[in-house]
Amino acid sequence: MNILVSACLLGEPCRYDGKSKGDERVIALSKEHNLIPVCPERDGGLSIPRDPCERIGDKVLTKEGKDCTNEYQKGAEIALDLCKNHSCKYAVLKLNSPSCGCRGIYDGTFTRTLVQDKKGVAAELLSQNGIIVLGEDETEKIGK
Ligand code: SF4
Repeated sequence: MNILVSACLLGEPCRYDGKSKGDERVIALSKEHNLIPVCPERDGGLSIPRDPCERIGDKVLTKEGKDCTNEYQKGAEIALDLCKNHSCKYAVLKLNSPSCGCRGIYDGTFTRTLVQDKKGVAAELLSQNGIIVLGEDETEKIGK
């Protein structure tokens, strides 16, 4: 099946710090499935590298207060369009990211404090549209 995947988990150097986060558990899914990479922050128009952001209320801001909400929203919509165009039932997205995190994100204080009941912007939009969003440590939940 087609599965949407955070591009950084496939080894693309698209993170805020210009690095990747390749994960063997996710890469191994390519043996059985067609993986569709997306990086909502890059694809939404942010640069690599870029200043890290956190969700604060209904906005996404850098520590200095630069508003990146529009880019995050655009990237989330691109991710949703990819899911719709490729009939993806699942997305495997990078944990803790303000875009991709599906089981908690940092709390907006830039102190690396996680809050479990909030999602990243893209993970939230996909979940609201019926996509099953998993973290990189949950790949065993995907059927063949
Ligand atoms: Fe990875 Fe998602 Fe961050 Fe892009 S937005 S670098 S795919 S966690």
